[in-house]
Amino acid sequence: MDLYEYQARDLFAAHGVPVLPGAVANTPEEAKATAEKIGNQVVIKAQVKTGGRGKAGGVKLAQTPDEAAEKAEAILGLDIKGHITRRVLVAEASDIAEEYYFSFLLDRANRTFLAMASAEGGVEIEQLAVERPEALAKIPVDAINGVDKAKAVEILTAGKFPEKVIDEAADVVVKLWETFVSEDATLVEVNPLVRDPQDKIIALDGKVTLDENASFRQPGHEALVDKDAENPLEAKAKAKDLNYVKLDGEVGIIGNGAGLVMSTLDVVAYAGEKHGGVKPANFLDIGGGASAEVMAAGLDVILNDTDVKSVFVNVFGGITACDAVANGIVEALKILGDEATKPLVVRLDGNNVVEGRQILADANHPLVTVVDTMDNAADKAAELAAAGA
Ligand code: GDP
Ligand code: MN
Repeated sequence: MDLYEYQARDLFAAHGVPVLPGAVANTPEEAKATAEKIGNQVVIKAQVKTGGRGKAGGVKLAQTPDEAAEKAEAILGLDIKGHITRRVLVAEASDIAEEYYFSFLLDRANRTFLAMASAEGGVEIEQLAVERPEALAKIPVDAINGVDKAKAVEILTAGKFPEKVIDEAADVVVKLWETFVSEDATLVEVNPLVRDPQDKIIALDGKVTLDENASFRQPGHEALVDKDAENPLEAKAKAKDLNYVKLDGEVGIIGNGAGLVMSTLDVVAYAGEKHGGVKPANFLDIGGGASAEVMAAGLDVILNDTDVKSVFVNVFGGITACDAVANGIVEALKILGDEATKPLVVRLDGNNVVEGRQILADANHPLVTVVDTMDNAADKAAELAAAGA
């Protein structure tokens, strides 16, 4: 889960990383009130989950409360790379002597954590990384040893931070590492990390990604979810503990096992090319021992997706054999009753496949078509989706 800048800033503050005072505002009036409270030059910043706000006109300085209202008015509603600005952060503005770049991230390819640091931070960091990669130090961080002050000094020295700021910046880096570890983050990025004219080090921007797999031990993170921006189908699936991702096609997909579902997406996309370019509408893995209730919950989410024109249930019977899955499908359709309105193509294989197919044949549900192979089932589901579109 990516956080908004103001949420990242709150986490920073909680872990002792120096940030400037401020508050989030939904309207120009709120922005003005906050600017009055701060009583100083402020910066108004679009709160959208994408970078490059500064270049897009989403970051503006204001000298007075009235100007703060004016700038907030200009930024609220602004479309930044497809993200509409609904809130702004109003923070005390800092005078900037120098802008640096710093981040910790999970380096999956190299199976380690990585620190990145550069004395040349700011809005041109992407360009710097491409044109002069040597100016951006990349230092692996051992998960067990972590980052103590000595390690922080090593990283900042490699990033060519000026001698005179290294000591204070290293203290900030240690706190950023504490934030990264204790919040179960996969990214903590500060760009710019600034030196102000008094040589104080301040985190002026913050980008944090939290690892949702750790949410079971991070009860505080639930409050950081932006319920308004969440896809309603994904929210519903999450509430039912389903592994669901909304995609933009027309064929609803249910399978058991992430690998099987991934290959189902591929065969449906391939089959869809022959049927007007229909595509998978979602990823949904109902897992190994799926009960009728789980099947019903999955079907319920998918059938409520207005983009879905047909559903492909692709199950390989293992520990939960095909007869149990077939009973699950029949029960699920009973539970859903009139809510089940779209054609279902079912492909069963594996343990007790003969019994499973017999159960579906006996149930003889008008919406269900049983197809023996995965490719043929994908083709049928795509054909039905194209016909229903
Ligand atoms: P981003 O463009 O989305 O990364 O947004 P940032 O928060 O990094 O802001 C972009 C740029 O605006 C920064 O690199 C700074 O140059 C400038 N900026 C942001 N906050 C302040 C501030 O408090 N004072 C001043 N003078 N400039 C700021
Ligand atoms: Mn930035």
